[in-house]
Amino acid sequence: MPTLTPQTLHDLTRDMFLAMGSAAPEAEAVAAHLVAANLAGHDSHGVGMLPTYVRLQQEKRIVLNQELRTVVDAGPILVLDAQCGVGQRVTALAVDRACARAAEIGVCLLAVRDAGHIGRMGTYGEQCAAQGLAFVAFANVASGVQVQAIWGAAASSLGTNPFTVSVPRPGHQPVLLDMATTAIAFGKARVAHESGKPLPEGVAIDAQGHPTTDPTRLVEHREGALLSFGKHKGSGLAVMCELGAAMAGGLRADNSGTGGVTNSMLAFVFDPARLGADAGSVEAVCQHVTSGPVAPGHTTIQLPGDPERATAARRTAHGIDLDAGSWAEIVAAAKSVGVAVPG
Ligand code: NAD
Repeated sequence: MPTLTPQTLHDLTRDMFLAMGSAAPEAEAVAAHLVAANLAGHDSHGVGMLPTYVRLQQEKRIVLNQELRTVVDAGPILVLDAQCGVGQRVTALAVDRACARAAEIGVCLLAVRDAGHIGRMGTYGEQCAAQGLAFVAFANVASGVQVQAIWGAAASSLGTNPFTVSVPRPGHQPVLLDMATTAIAFGKARVAHESGKPLPEGVAIDAQGHPTTDPTRLVEHREGALLSFGKHKGSGLAVMCELGAAMAGGLRADNSGTGGVTNSMLAFVFDPARLGADAGSVEAVCQHVTSGPVAPGHTTIQLPGDPERATAARRTAHGIDLDAGSWAEIVAAAKSVGVAVPG
């Protein structure tokens, strides 16, 4: 299992995007996003996505250096069409515009249509929190190959549809809930497949609707499905994420065609300081929920976002371990765009 420094992976990602034709800001934006996802422990949304991005670019399903097209810009409402642009860059630009609007008038309802894969949603929550703003986002995944079987269904009908909430916490890092609505993110099934490991119990079904722990049929053959987390509750949230994308006007699970991967997102960005609550109320809740007795088998009570920050501190110091299968695919993808890989 190779261990690489964040800088090595950053440079490799940047060079691959430059080689494909991205301008420098786009290549840097994707590199920073992917490596931050690896640092946070979400290898499913880190550099392991590079082979997919190379394929999508070669198939002309993502558009390098794409502009955001403004569809609606009316007071608090901002609707932007990402036109299959590189998701990490165009979404960060869209969220920047929403932050500016929220800073000006208190709130922005942001709809982003049809971005190329936008990666780790938490990045955009962190972007808002850095400006003292809260972020609530519903997103879908339109790929034509659905992977989520919702509660009661024996087959997939939705993507892994992520949901993210970020609440700024003055003097601290934000509270950041950032998750797939499937029991595990699809990329985690990919990582399990690449590492030759089984899936956890209770997260997937096979083509006949029976429980399975085999990631290979799901990842390689797209047979079976991941289950929603939390039975009907996660399933309901997944449907709401799809409806968020539908209200945003993006491609949906029912009309996305096949082959590409786009995300559409409906997000609320707002300034909590304008709501008139006591300045210490967020902090009081954070202290309250983390100060109770710790359950057997746990060492601490964490807030959402804490595990990622702990992993980032560890990986920043020790490097990022990649499984051999994912690394081999990254090396092959780099070679295919003419980039030499560090030994
Ligand atoms: P996860 O299950 O690892 O974590 C989900 C949330 O639970 C996080 O906010 C985390 O901080 C919190 N958490 C985890 N352990 C905790 C603990 N012990 N105590 C308190 N809180 C805890 O995340 P996931 O569902 O596997 O999602 C991984 C990533 O995949 C996310 O960044 C998400 O944005 C991304 N994703 C992206 C897409 C896309 O199409 N772009 C689709 C699905 C998921």
